[in-house]
Amino acid sequence: MIPINKPQLGEEEKREVMSVIEENALTSAAADGGKRVRDFESLMKEYLGCKHVIAVNSGTAALHAALLAAGIGPGDEVLVPSFTFVATANAVVAAGAKPVFVDIEKHDYTIDVSDAKRKVTRKTKAVIPVHLYGHPCDMDAVSELAQKRSLAVIEDACQSLGSTYKKRQTGTFGAMGCFSMYASKVLTAGEGGAIATDDSRLADELKMIRNHGMVKGYDTRVLGLNLRLPELAAAIAKVQMAKLTSMLAARRKNAELMSELLQGAKDVALPQESDDRVFNWYLYTVCLAKGAARDGVMARLQKEGIGATVYYNPPVHKTPYYRKLSAATKLPATEWCAGRVLSLPVHPGVGEGDVRRTAAELVLALSSPTTASAASSSPSQP
Ligand SMILES: *Cc1c(COP(=O)(O)O)cnc(C)c1O
Repeated sequence: MIPINKPQLGEEEKREVMSVIEENALTSAAADGGKRVRDFESLMKEYLGCKHVIAVNSGTAALHAALLAAGIGPGDEVLVPSFTFVATANAVVAAGAKPVFVDIEKHDYTIDVSDAKRKVTRKTKAVIPVHLYGHPCDMDAVSELAQKRSLAVIEDACQSLGSTYKKRQTGTFGAMGCFSMYASKVLTAGEGGAIATDDSRLADELKMIRNHGMVKGYDTRVLGLNLRLPELAAAIAKVQMAKLTSMLAARRKNAELMSELLQGAKDVALPQESDDRVFNWYLYTVCLAKGAARDGVMARLQKEGIGATVYYNPPVHKTPYYRKLSAATKLPATEWCAGRVLSLPVHPGVGEGDVRRTAAELVLALSSPTTASAASSSPSQP
């Protein structure tokens, strides 16, 4: 099976992890974190071109900490897309605020800023643009809306490390940008996260939030939690930072070949980069013209050992917990895309032969009449 994503780990990661064990330095509750945490933070800071990076133990923790640092809490509304991983909305609920779901652009699956504008109320305090699949959001439009309505911008860059908008790294536009180092992401530590910011006050606040609000002893200055990244994970993340550029180049090579091979294929829209929006190719996501055939096409690719996967169906507002909270929510573009998208593997472990086979099988599946019947026999989403 060619999995949809696979951590790229080697001897360097092993050595660094072993050194943590040999030094018996599994974690540090110091305000600035352990040695590998600090190493990782400075490498990431340099890569992103921002002033501060604060490592935490997940992307979810990064979002939660960012919301707390922005002062978001009970009574506040936060604009979030529904076409994302549930963590984006869960972090808002965990902070005590209300997620208000916003529709997306059909062509690249990122936040529809005109819909966001319509959903701003007196209670709206923040907006979380999600650079889904590594596709940068329209940050000019997001920033303009945020400025006009005094909203904090917290970017969910969990999928977009290395993607750029107008030549600048995603995650560096808002007050804070949140990253994940979960096993599937372009850079992994197994679990882990990070927040980028240029604001020294927010950076100090985030460091306190990650460590029970303490700086020295039990001087609980703000409400915090234990969001610390363990040194074992930081060791892996640190080594991965050094390999990031080459890992992204391998993804790009695969993605560009995929686009070349699928160019002109019938009934499928390909992901489109531009000079202003350069992708990290976290996922190569196509959109099938015939929604009814999607699950059949996916089943067929999987039967051929190709880990084609659907993200995100159902979208967050249709999942059981949020269905209860936002029963009346209608997001036509989100629902349209959720029924048609299909992501293909292009990670660095995928070889040229794999890309050629994936593209060929997809074209075959799209043109095959049996795929449609496979679709009707597969379980449908409620
Ligand atoms: C992975 C992801 C998260 C959460 O990150 P974790 O490290 O799994 O907690 C949040 N938002 C998006 C868009 C993600 O893809």
